[in-house]
Amino acid sequence: MSAAIDSAPTPMMAQYIEIKAANPDCLLFYRMGDFYELFFDDAEDASRALGITLTKRGKHLGEDIPMCGVPVHAADDYLQKLIALGYRIAVCEQLEDPAEARKRGSKSVVRRDVVRLVTPGTITEEALLDPGQGNHLVTLTRIGGKGKAGEFALAWTDLSTGIFKLAASEGHRIEADLAAIEPSELVVADPLYRDETFAGVFRRFGKRARPEPQALFDAATAPDRIATFFGVATLDGFGDFSRAELSAAAALIAYLGKTQLAARPALRRPERRLAGASMEIDPATRASLELTRSVQGKRQGSLLGVIDRTRSGVGGRLLASRLSNPLTDPVEIAVRQASLAHFIEDPDLRRDVRAALARMPDIERALSRLALERGGPRDLLAIRSGLQGAASIGERLGADLPVELAHCHAALSDLPAALRTALETMLGDEAPLLKRDGGFVRQGAIGELDEARTLREDARRFVAALQGRLAEETGIRALKIKHNNVLGFFIEVNETHGKALMAGDGAGHFIHRQTLASAMRFTTGELAELQERIVNAGADALRIELETFDRLSAAIVAQAGRLQAAAAALGAIDVAASLAELAVSEDWARPRVDDSLSFRVEGGRHPVVEAALAAAQGASFVANDCDLSPPGAASEAGAIWLVTGPNMGGKSTFLRQNALIAILAQIGAYVPARSAHIGIVDRLFSRVGASDELAEGRSTFMVEMVETAAILNQSSERALVILDEIGRGTATYDGLSIAFAAVEHLHEVNRCRSLFATHFHEMTALSERLARLSNVTMRVKEWRGDVVFLHEVGPGAADRSYGIQVAKLAGLPKSVISRAKAVLAELERTDQGERRGTFLDDLPLFSAAVKREMPNGKPHADAPDPVAEALGAIDPDRLSPREALEALYELKAVS
Ligand code: ADP
Repeated sequence: MSAAIDSAPTPMMAQYIEIKAANPDCLLFYRMGDFYELFFDDAEDASRALGITLTKRGKHLGEDIPMCGVPVHAADDYLQKLIALGYRIAVCEQLEDPAEARKRGSKSVVRRDVVRLVTPGTITEEALLDPGQGNHLVTLTRIGGKGKAGEFALAWTDLSTGIFKLAASEGHRIEADLAAIEPSELVVADPLYRDETFAGVFRRFGKRARPEPQALFDAATAPDRIATFFGVATLDGFGDFSRAELSAAAALIAYLGKTQLAARPALRRPERRLAGASMEIDPATRASLELTRSVQGKRQGSLLGVIDRTRSGVGGRLLASRLSNPLTDPVEIAVRQASLAHFIEDPDLRRDVRAALARMPDIERALSRLALERGGPRDLLAIRSGLQGAASIGERLGADLPVELAHCHAALSDLPAALRTALETMLGDEAPLLKRDGGFVRQGAIGELDEARTLREDARRFVAALQGRLAEETGIRALKIKHNNVLGFFIEVNETHGKALMAGDGAGHFIHRQTLASAMRFTTGELAELQERIVNAGADALRIELETFDRLSAAIVAQAGRLQAAAAALGAIDVAASLAELAVSEDWARPRVDDSLSFRVEGGRHPVVEAALAAAQGASFVANDCDLSPPGAASEAGAIWLVTGPNMGGKSTFLRQNALIAILAQIGAYVPARSAHIGIVDRLFSRVGASDELAEGRSTFMVEMVETAAILNQSSERALVILDEIGRGTATYDGLSIAFAAVEHLHEVNRCRSLFATHFHEMTALSERLARLSNVTMRVKEWRGDVVFLHEVGPGAADRSYGIQVAKLAGLPKSVISRAKAVLAELERTDQGERRGTFLDDLPLFSAAVKREMPNGKPHADAPDPVAEALGAIDPDRLSPREALEALYELKAVS
């Protein structure tokens, strides 16, 4: 196209600008022949994001128009990159043949329009999705309230599988609830999105969180909108939903309408997740325990990466979702355990089922693509082999099953037989990716199609015979009949022969088509006629195949419910069989899970560290016990273990492994231990290691304190709290005091099962005053001045920190090590060292700060005394921590 001289846009550019204006927040992929082109700012963004060349095309308002393009056949790769960066893409297609446009006039542009918005939460293409990972689109709403007040609800779907779930939430829980779902895209009602209270929460999702108008969330019209979508008169049959839940669900449906345009996704009926049905785990805890992702953001190195032995996409996704949502009902947990036990007891069944699952296609995702009219012939094949495989897995399961597997068996016995027969009779064994390539309907399935194909083949054979005959008639042995997409069939000879044909007897018979540098091309009346027969027969065949595709696809979508139930059953079977496999191969034990406050683990291990050790050096992991159960029968509260030991001794590993064991136990899996008895944990808190909020401008210490505050404010008796090295990020006395007070608070107020690792050895004195607190330490051996870590947890306290030995192991220069030793010796002799010890031994508990009566606390003196007077003179708000401590010394001196 030549550059427009005046400033009026060309007709094509005018069309582009109009379509772009309707999709301002998307990159517009504008189809031009074999390319999707991007213009203006879109081109600049995309060329930067994709590393593709930026060019120019024409001018707009006197300026060059930046442009870049991606070939249609490779568009998926580029889409994937852009989606991963959080972009949304509007795909604009040509809706007619260029020839039709030309018929309307020489200046006419091909009609184009956006057929689909591709957003991170709405992709369904195999190439864009991780098979083992759900892809969740989430809507979030708040009704009646500001800030954290009001009724909150979430709705989410995985468009590639059709799940549709709802849950009520609360302002303070939003972050934890979102973390459990792991949204790929989060759509928030506009007023809520702009509420400062949640700015940090949404910011963390970057471009993946977006506001949508409140109208989408309108609660008054929500029930009708949902009913219309599902084609029912009323929602009564769906269950009871709150207004907020309905608002979130209706918004989800509306948003799908906006992005999928005409296509209607095969969503299941909404299913409600009950509050409290799963263990609450906040995002910081999830991140630090590396449940589904390692700190590097990868699946590898996470707990999921180590325990995932599933053989199918649907099983992998279910396992990931279960791991993110451990149960809190011992009965449900026992149901899952029973499925595992069944597969453990029958190794042959386990092997057969797993082998069959590995061969299964992804029914859920094939079905979704067909429902959204994005499917191809291979999706039909997938459903066919899915139906066959599902039936045989159902048969292999047999009878006498535990309850969950019995449900699965029922779903696999209820497969649509007529559909399977139709697919079996109609489809061949191989299929092209695109339906327009044809060739997927089986020979013999449709008479009319066979006829068209025979005609085409016959004509092709005639063409082959014609070449021999013409060569003989003309005496040109090198005469060839060839085919290309522009000319169709043609006769090709070299230039000399070509001239002879045009001059001699052939003139009139041979019709000239084209002259190339080295060859001339002709056709004849007969060849042209054969050509037409082939084209017509081919078109007939393709039309029949496309009709068959649509018929089969509709038949599949009509059975969406049963197919989805079968897929879900296969997922549950896969999870049970794979966790059974894991339990057997790694020697894990079935935990006892009940409503008690027990937490007793014998011979527990950290599965990820263990796997890493085995892979790296073949070293073995040292198993350790942990018992946080209420110590006496009369005691209603869990115990605290105070873990000391040198750096590198294995403290964090021990802390984390017990949190992981609780999670594994509550997803219904077996656990890496000799035995375990876990009373349900309703909320897990873990504060281990630095978190990634540093980027947001909070210091490590501030983050640590915010998280510790949440733990101390929110933990109840059923919580499990894991705290590592609280107070490390500040001056020693500050840190020690905070750690001290935090442990007292956990013991007296929260009364929950807790593990507390610290390098403040002074804290071990607390065990004398806090009845349910025990000291344990990571044992080490000294050998020729070096330290050897045994990684064994034993009773008692570490006698020293071995910091210098660890520093030596790390390779600090020898001179630094020997100097450090000298300084340490000096410090240990000084007054200060001694005084620190005695100060802590004598310090009364912070009884005034704790809400409950301290069982062992010293009674307060009644009479006014010098201490009280001195206290009165202090204004705590104006003291630095250091001054506060000095004031304390003075107080002590007065008393
Ligand atoms: P700490 O928190 O005390 O500094 P870590 O828990 O980070 O120590 O452990 C340091 C390293 O020691 C781990 O990376 C691991 O390789 C090893 N380790 C820890 N616990 C064990 C164990 N129980 N058995 C074997 N090796 C262990």
